[in-house]
Amino acid sequence: MTLPRPAVTAATRVFAVLGRPVGHSRSPDLHGAALAARGLDAVYVALACGDDEVGGLLRGLALAGGGGNVTVPHKARAAAAVDRTTPAVDRTGACNTFWARDGEVWGDNTDVAGFRGAAQALLPGGITGGRVVLLGAGGAARAALAGLVDEGVGEVFVLNRSRERARARVDAVGAGRARVVDGPEALGGLELDLVVQATSLGLSDHDPLPLDLDGPARVGAVLDLVYGPRGTPLVRAARARGLPAADGREMLVLQGAAAFHRWFGDPVPLDAMRSALSLGGP
Ligand code: NAP
Repeated sequence: MTLPRPAVTAATRVFAVLGRPVGHSRSPDLHGAALAARGLDAVYVALACGDDEVGGLLRGLALAGGGGNVTVPHKARAAAAVDRTTPAVDRTGACNTFWARDGEVWGDNTDVAGFRGAAQALLPGGITGGRVVLLGAGGAARAALAGLVDEGVGEVFVLNRSRERARARVDAVGAGRARVVDGPEALGGLELDLVVQATSLGLSDHDPLPLDLDGPARVGAVLDLVYGPRGTPLVRAARARGLPAADGREMLVLQGAAAFHRWFGDPVPLDAMRSALSLGGP
């Protein structure tokens, strides 16, 4: 009698998303589906860890032949813990993807590529020379700002709860095209091609809207980086006004696809990843 091959062997490579909290992360679903579609001998799990543990964990996983992702609140700590960084990490100060090559641990920030892909899917005509409002100045906002600069954006107005923190962060990434404004009144009379929502607001249906779409500026489209099974309140409000709008699921898939490519190369099973998050085509 032959025994069924165990699902996990000594050769199985271990990948993980590191964060705290991490229980809500969809990355294990996304990458589990992609690993199965490619038939790879690897597992992907979620590991909750503290700030002091993230460096040791990511280095151990990578040097043992695996890798993974980093989520809130450890992306800055991860950027400092790797040996080699991509330009996306250098620009944003955040690392969300790690792996090892030739005994060195590498870090990338695939949120930048994920954001660019999601923006291109929402606005097929592009955002080159366009005018954008960016809500938030945390890690996701910095990745979005780097992506907007790479897309050739004209002008970015940044609105954040803590303005001083925003100024320091925006100057470092904005390539002279972004400036922090004091409040929505400063947008009066402007035509905005895109609103990028990168605050934590919108996870709950009870959260206040981060921007009044009937306010002083005219808005062309909305890309919310937050995601939920029914979209987000801002996306629903935008669609109710006939505006093109998307939540953060496409960005999540595309940052995951870029990470998967770092670890395993082509082909990246995008359809399996989208199905895992119940997404159709872009
Ligand atoms: P973060 O670094 O903690 O930044 C949070 C941002 O939200 C800051 O700008 C913060 O303002 C603002 N904020 C928090 N609570 C607020 C409130 N009650 N009112 C107004 N502003 C508030 O987090 P992050 O990594 O940037 O993530 C932000 C969101 O993006 C999260 O929901 C995350 O899930 C999502 N995200 C999505 C993807 C994707 O692939 N779709 C990727 C990354 C992140 P202060 O500076 O004033 O504190």
